[in-house]
Amino acid sequence: MKYYLFILFLSITALNAQPAVEKVSVQLQWADQFQFAGYYIAKEKGYYRDAGLDVTIQKFDSKKLAVDEVMAGHSTYGIGRSSLLVDRMKGRNVVALAAIFQSSPFILLSQKSADIKTPRDLVGKRIMMTQDFQDTISVRAMLNSQGLSVDELKTIEHSYNPMDISNGKTDVMACYISNEPYILKEKGVETNAISPEAYGFDFYSDILFTSDLEVRNHPKRVRAFVDATLKGWEYAFSHIPETAQLIRTHYNGQNKSLESLVYEGEVLKSLAYRGDQPLGAITVDKFRRISDIYRVMGIHQDEKRLDGFIYDDTGKQSVALSVDEHSFLHTNIIRYTSIEQWPPFTFYPEHNSQELQGIGVDFWKLIVERTGMKSSFTPSLTWGGILESMKTKIVDVALGTSISKEKERYALFSKPYATFANVIVTGKAIDFLPGLNALGGKRVAIAEGNNVAESIALKYPDITIIGVEDTREALNALSSGRVDAVIDILPSVAYLINEDHHVDLKISGTTEFNFDLRMMIRNDYPELKSIIDKAIDSISIVDRQKIMNQYIAITYEDRVDYSWVYGIALAALFIISIFIYRQFEMGKYNKRLLKMATTDPLTGLTNRIRLDEKLLECYHFYERTGRIFSVIMIDLDYFKRVNDTYGHLVGDKTLVIFAKLLSDNIRNVDIVGRWGGEEFMIICPDTTLTGGEQLAEKIKSVIEMYDFPHIHTLTCSFGISESREGDRIENIVGRADSALYQAKAEGRNRICIS
Ligand code: GH3
Ligand code: MG
Ligand code: MG
Repeated sequence: MKYYLFILFLSITALNAQPAVEKVSVQLQWADQFQFAGYYIAKEKGYYRDAGLDVTIQKFDSKKLAVDEVMAGHSTYGIGRSSLLVDRMKGRNVVALAAIFQSSPFILLSQKSADIKTPRDLVGKRIMMTQDFQDTISVRAMLNSQGLSVDELKTIEHSYNPMDISNGKTDVMACYISNEPYILKEKGVETNAISPEAYGFDFYSDILFTSDLEVRNHPKRVRAFVDATLKGWEYAFSHIPETAQLIRTHYNGQNKSLESLVYEGEVLKSLAYRGDQPLGAITVDKFRRISDIYRVMGIHQDEKRLDGFIYDDTGKQSVALSVDEHSFLHTNIIRYTSIEQWPPFTFYPEHNSQELQGIGVDFWKLIVERTGMKSSFTPSLTWGGILESMKTKIVDVALGTSISKEKERYALFSKPYATFANVIVTGKAIDFLPGLNALGGKRVAIAEGNNVAESIALKYPDITIIGVEDTREALNALSSGRVDAVIDILPSVAYLINEDHHVDLKISGTTEFNFDLRMMIRNDYPELKSIIDKAIDSISIVDRQKIMNQYIAITYEDRVDYSWVYGIALAALFIISIFIYRQFEMGKYNKRLLKMATTDPLTGLTNRIRLDEKLLECYHFYERTGRIFSVIMIDLDYFKRVNDTYGHLVGDKTLVIFAKLLSDNIRNVDIVGRWGGEEFMIICPDTTLTGGEQLAEKIKSVIEMYDFPHIHTLTCSFGISESREGDRIENIVGRADSALYQAKAEGRNRICIS
């Protein structure tokens, strides 16, 4: 007896030692059916209990919206649809946890004999539809995409009786593909369905969501609930007959037949598993596309409100490195390079010409941050230059390239960190192109370095590929009729169509070829490749999307050419997005042009044209006021040797550094510019020869002391002149030039005045 009591005591203690069970609830948004099987299973099979949760499944109540229930705290979790986005935009802080159906089951159903097959056939017909926001929007968008309007339909109140499409009460009925077609079939009625998804209006459905309060205050509970629910769904979809039976026995308020529940399960399973997405997958990317549709339909969207909308509990990670990888990073400073005129990947935005920006740069910053590596930037002007530096190992990493057999001979490649679609650009007159087949016999321009050319040549030998230097040249060739189409990656063409005002061009279709952006790594640094790959793996979808959002803005509002927008929406929604970069709004265009015309592209200094203007200004001022100005000409000593010994790239880089040293060491009022080659000029207003000489002395010693990369030491010679009575500008510059010549003749690294 004592023994039994002891056992009893033990088991009670064991029970008490279990973690406390937390009570939570989930609000359904329709009557019991297979649509909620995952929740029933997770409860019945004890998945919730095992996760420490006591879950109440709150039955559908037509007077209670799941969003209201969750926001009011009456329910912990809820099930909603893509229209949750609208709630979010309205300032309600809902957080989407998992999307059970990757596509919406919503369809427009009619009797087969009525022969209603396309949106056009709906004109003049009676349609039973609820005023549900999301269904309304998908129908409106689908009609508009076909050049039709909702006004051309007669919407009538929903009777929820599927038989009404066969007894003449309505022509068409809004339904779920998983329900009514089967019910009608059971009754001998054959049907046709029109699905907005087929027209590109692809929404999520049955999104498990909660409030941001719950996410913040109970992060563990949220994770546990999501995981247990998805486990329930996985079981339900892999045991459809068993699950249908369970619903029929315990959750059958609708009195559905076993067969119709099984059918519903099969259809929903096909909506839940799409492509290679895992069950419940939810991405900001797709929500952006949904948000785009809402925007086009005139529903205000604020990109910033998307932040935090999608659940992400992965947090900031630092990458776990091996001992070897650690020591590699400890002993090396990683020199990275990138092309500087490739928006939006790597470029100097016009408001900040000092700091390279772009998608590639931001990914690099994340990699640096997460691995703790030390890195330094080496500028490169051309693709050729980058490949050259990679071969000679002057640099260790190039930020954005595609992989190719040729390049693999001397470089390693990281995993792709971003992927973009190659799209087809044509003249405005061309209709939507369903794919590359349509380009047979046509001349197509493709920019150097985009390896889509090889894939197209192989698969579509009928297409005549014209190689051009870059995307800009390709679009110009198209504009002037030298080619029939251009193929390039979406962000680049969208940006350039805007920037170069190609009002005559449009994006007419997509290709099946994507462009994978990778880091290129010198081939004797395998440690670096594995470090970068680990870091890329650690970057979550949310982090990725944040970077994209920074550089990619969608501007339907700016170019409201809806026929164009919708024409393309037909095939793939993401193509309709015209991407432009916030930094390059139209208003800044003229300023940019001006800046380009007066700036030296290599050094960023004032160019010769602008120097001439400034000389003239100073000269006129001197004539009027007698205020003396001086001119300093500077020429680098033995610069040819730099090029000959270290190559042109190092030469260029030296010039860039030299230019920066000059501009860092002059007064605000002085003007420094590149006169040409490796000759520079400083114009010093209100300064005599003596003042000019002092400035030159200062610069001379700064240059002498500076440790230039690779070449270490560098000197230069100076020639100075000042304005004199009766002078012409040519004389002033001429005297500075002769003084410079004298400085060279006297042995260089010195200052002469004249
Ligand atoms: P000196 O001391 O007499 O000036 O000798 P130097 O070698 O500098 O001779 P010079 O000034 O006549 O030659 C200038 C050289 O600078 C010629 C060219 O190879 C190089 N150079 C000019 N512009 C550029 C440039 O934009 N990039 C690079 N890398 N080199 C340039
Ligand atoms: Mg020189
Ligand atoms: Mg020279």
